[in-house]
Amino acid sequence: MNDLSDVIEADRAHVWHHLTQHKPLETNNPRIIVEGKGMRVWDQSGREFLDAVSGGVWTVNVGYGRTAIADAVHAQLVKMNYFAQSVGSIPGSEFAKKLIEKMPGLSRVYYVNSGSEANEKVFKMVRQIAHKKYDGKKTKILYRDRDYHGSTLATMSAGGQDERVMQFGPLAPDFVRVPHCMEYRAQWDLTGAEYGRKAADAIEEVILREGPETVGLLCLEPVTAGGGVIEAPEGYWERVQEICKKYDVLLHIDEVVCGMGRTGKWFGYQHYGIKPDFVTMAKGVASGYAAIAITVTTEEVFELFKDDPSDKLNYFRDISTFGGCTAGPAAALANMQIIEDENLLDNTTKMGERMLANLNKLAEKHEVIGDVRGKGLFVGAELVVDRETKEPAEEAKVGAVVAACNARGVIIGATNRSVPGFNNTLCFSPALIATADDIDEICNAVDEALTEVFGG
Ligand code: PLP
Repeated sequence: MNDLSDVIEADRAHVWHHLTQHKPLETNNPRIIVEGKGMRVWDQSGREFLDAVSGGVWTVNVGYGRTAIADAVHAQLVKMNYFAQSVGSIPGSEFAKKLIEKMPGLSRVYYVNSGSEANEKVFKMVRQIAHKKYDGKKTKILYRDRDYHGSTLATMSAGGQDERVMQFGPLAPDFVRVPHCMEYRAQWDLTGAEYGRKAADAIEEVILREGPETVGLLCLEPVTAGGGVIEAPEGYWERVQEICKKYDVLLHIDEVVCGMGRTGKWFGYQHYGIKPDFVTMAKGVASGYAAIAITVTTEEVFELFKDDPSDKLNYFRDISTFGGCTAGPAAALANMQIIEDENLLDNTTKMGERMLANLNKLAEKHEVIGDVRGKGLFVGAELVVDRETKEPAEEAKVGAVVAACNARGVIIGATNRSVPGFNNTLCFSPALIATADDIDEICNAVDEALTEVFGG
């Protein structure tokens, strides 16, 4: 391993890390990840880790060190690296076609750079539709408690995790919160499909309260990610679709985390038989080999923006400079090819089941595990002080479990650890290439870490 002391010094002196409190880094070395291969990464000291969180934030779906993607990006860059997306590109067109083949009912692909930006494009389209079609009404955007849609001002305004937005106000107007649908922390004394329908009915109540003529969009994660790995109960999505139809509210599914195989299907919404008007995606689209995010919509929505060429304000007057980088779709094409060639959707389903089974087994031994849940390789284990009261496990102890896994060479995650109620779910999202041995290694580390921190 090379001596990286200069790199560490430069990092300490100049780099502002994301989501990081920097005071501890004045005395501790920052971690520099130097290399990756498959499921594993190595830090500056040469220490190896099994990455159970795909690059920290559900991103590296096909694993590290994929020369096929690097080669595809290289070949594209030396031929044609960039032109503004007001014109077309070869990989942009090819990827759009392949993607739409996986998304029946949708037809138009808008290239941008980040998940936040992809979501914000939807919000802009909906606001413009309100002006074009509804006399400036239907501008309201509904979002759900516990869901997260990004870090920009507009996407924070659709932010259901209070601690991530509370210090950044004032936020954008006409964003309205609806209740979450989590049965484990139930808001209604019902179970199963009855609970699911009730949670969806709560959205209808908000639409009626606000006035259906003012509501343009309902924006939901298919499985809530950072808010706690929450899948809606049965009955929920069917009702959601009915409600959107009834009140002429467009449905936006934020697949920034779940998209591109994470839950065992190409997209999370495809488990639930729904027909969204917008789908956004980012992280796994190119597995972090290039920056790319996408807003997808229907031909019906697209048609609304092209009916009068003489009106200069009529079309979608929007650009994203780096939406024209060809590295993104070139990487996305190669990434999708790998998922197909290696049958990674099936592997995700199988390994996800193994992980749920392993964690449920651990729950028999560790009382602190209150709930195990997930879909595909997107799994959470909620830690509680008491299974009856469901009081969340102490934040410091959840952090200690993450650290104890790290000490055993396994990187896991946890939901936001700053507000009680959000602070206590261990998160697992290994790459879709994970083997049975990888899953067992992750769960064994969790077993030992729970014993170290909570005893038993
Ligand atoms: N939507 C969801 C569900 C996310 O989890 C995230 C990021 O974690 C985003 C949107 C924002 O994506 P980005 O960080 O690429 O802007």
